[in-house]
Amino acid sequence: MSNGMDDRRRGLEEEYFHRKNKEAIEKLRAKLKVSEEAKAAGTSSMKCPRCDGTLHESKFEEVLIDTCDKCGGVWLDSGELEQLTAQEQEAPGWLSRYWFSEG
Ligand SMILES: [Zn+2]
Repeated sequence: MSNGMDDRRRGLEEEYFHRKNKEAIEKLRAKLKVSEEAKAAGTSSMKCPRCDGTLHESKFEEVLIDTCDKCGGVWLDSGELEQLTAQEQEAPGWLSRYWFSEG
């Protein structure tokens, strides 16, 4: 009796996690599609989240960053900021100078 209940509950949990996984995978796929399209279009054709400028990939201190050609904003993927802050700890100063240089 109770076994049947457990099975049904487990089934619901599996369905829930399966759905959550699917959502996460679809989000990841959408993100990959955007970056693949950007690569296909050239260096980078991503739009700036702040203005309607275009983001251009550039290398800064061995870390790939996206810089806006219009407002000068700098955008980082997760992990890139950690790379930069790790370097900031080794050589303090340059990151905060760069960070606030756009006024
Ligand atoms: Zn911008």
